[in-house]
Amino acid sequence: MMPHAPGEQQVDWLVFGSGAAGLSAALVGRMEGMDVLLCEKTALIGGTTATSGGTIWVPGSRQSQATPTPDDLSSARRYLEGEVGAHGAVELRETLLATGPEMLDYLAENTEVRFKANSPYPDYHAEQPGGAQGGACPVAGSL
Ligand SMILES: Cc1cc2nc3c(=O)[nH]c(=O)nc-3n(C[C@H](O)[C@H](O)[C@H](O)COP(=O)(O)OP(=O)(O)OC[C@H]3O[C@@H](n4cnc5c(N)ncnc54)[C@H](O)[C@@H]3O)c2cc1C
Repeated sequence: MMPHAPGEQQVDWLVFGSGAAGLSAALVGRMEGMDVLLCEKTALIGGTTATSGGTIWVPGSRQSQATPTPDDLSSARRYLEGEVGAHGAVELRETLLATGPEMLDYLAENTEVRFKANSPYPDYHAEQPGGAQGGACPVAGSL
C-alpha cells in the first residue's frame, strides 16, 4: 500500500454520485468486502433517481418471465437498435442485455432490494420493432 499524506484517504472503491448507479456500485463494493467511499456533490442523497418513477428497463428478467406478457432479449435488442440507432456503444447495450437480469438476481440474493414485474407496462414506443407490451420494466421496492 502506498503511503499517503495527512488528510488523504485511501480506499479500494471510490464512487462519485448517489443516484441508482452510484449507490448500486457502492453497495456491491461493500457486499464484496471492499472499503468504499461514496462522494456526492450536493447536500442531498439520491440524485435524479430520488424523483424518478422507480422503474428500470431491464429486459429478460426472471420477474418478466413469470408474467403473462414476458419480454425477450432478441426483441429488446431490436428495440434498442431502433431507439438508440448509431448513438452509443453497441458493447454497452450488449452488456446491459447480458448482465441486467444477473444484476437483479444479485440484488435479490444479497440485499433487501426487491424488484417485481411491472406488467402490463409497455415500452415507451411499444409499437416500434421489438417493443415489449409489458414485462421489461421491473419496479424497485424493498422488503
Ligand atoms: C421525473 C423523472 C421520472 C423518471 N422516471 C423514470 C422511470 O420511471 N424509469 C426510469 O428508468 N428512469 C426514469 N427517469 C430517469 C432516471 O431517473 C435516471 O436515468 C436515473 O435516475 C439516473 O441514475 P444515475 O444514478 O445514473 O444518475 P442520478 O440519479 O442523476 O445521480 C447522479 C448523482 O451524481 C451526483 N454527481 C454528479 N457529479 C458529481 C461529482 N462530480 N461528484 C459527486 N457527485 C456528483 C449528482 O448530484 C447525483 O446525485 C426519470 C427521471 C425523472 C427526472
